[in-house]
Amino acid sequence: MSDLVVQQTNDDAAASKRHAVRLGYYEDPFIAAVSRGGGGFAGGGDASKPPEISRGYWARVVALRAILISLLRDVGCRCQVVNLGAGSDTTYMCLCTSWPQADWLPCKWVDADLQDNTSRKVLQVTSNRQLLEAIGGDEVDIVHNRHELHADPYHIVPADLRDPAAVVSTLRSSCGLDADLPTIFLAECVLVYLPVESSEKLLAQLANQFTKSALLHYEQVNLSDRFGEVMLSNFRSRGCDLAGSAACASEDAQRQRLLRAGWPAAAVWTMRRVYAALPQPATARVERIEMLDEREGFDQLLEHYCIAYAASSPFPSEPDLANR
Ligand code: SAM
Repeated sequence: MSDLVVQQTNDDAAASKRHAVRLGYYEDPFIAAVSRGGGGFAGGGDASKPPEISRGYWARVVALRAILISLLRDVGCRCQVVNLGAGSDTTYMCLCTSWPQADWLPCKWVDADLQDNTSRKVLQVTSNRQLLEAIGGDEVDIVHNRHELHADPYHIVPADLRDPAAVVSTLRSSCGLDADLPTIFLAECVLVYLPVESSEKLLAQLANQFTKSALLHYEQVNLSDRFGEVMLSNFRSRGCDLAGSAACASEDAQRQRLLRAGWPAAAVWTMRRVYAALPQPATARVERIEMLDEREGFDQLLEHYCIAYAASSPFPSEPDLANR
């Protein structure tokens, strides 16, 4: 799979999030500024998306953010967050503007991705007043070149996840990450694009070098059934072959993969379980935004994505899903 195709998967994610936000699934004042107006992996832009997709993105974003916030609250502000394959993700900006005074905001946040995507994000952040203010505005020193930006505590850096040693070195030397501080790694629909050997190496490197860490990971799962085969061939038709990734694994295999990497605890939930654990008033609200032709297809879709979590102390061995 070419790096260009892989990087363009971000355009599709950003366009889908933007579409869901525009329809009122959730709030994200920054997504329009970082998503492209047209093109993209699956049409991009403001092209309409099926309701299942927007509802799925809503569940993914609110669940990941709720778990992240609960972890940050648990460990307090002496905590670092590294968003691997962050693409156009705006979680940092959303956290800082929603909870500007919170004492659990992380003391370091790194958005890392392949260079073309970081260059685009650097340009977007430095040329948009709203994004600049969200990362600290006039109160922070912003140092940047075409590919990276440093506005402590926020950083954007190019990093190829297929070279885990270089990733860790960049995090330490360019962003000042301290491997002894509690660190949360986010990987939202990212590891699936790496060859299995690279993702295994990366996971082991993170678990071994950051001994107080948690990983919050979202990706496809259970793709070896009929529905999964359709998803795989859909990806393949867009130049993305996921067959060499860990996406075909079962939930248990995903969990074992994280334990094998070196984290003492791991848990995996399909998005169907996650969706069922989201607060009922919230799901009732989004289910009124767009009607589904039939619920079964949506449930099947949710069965084929998961949130995986791995942790070492001081992070809880399993965040309480029902408490979202
Ligand atoms: N995490 C973002 C989100 O969920 O909105 C973007 C997800 S997008 C589907 C996948 C991202 O992973 C892209 O931004 C892509 O460039 C990044 N990615 C894939 N392979 C990578 C690699 N080897 N090194 C760094 N980033 C990579």
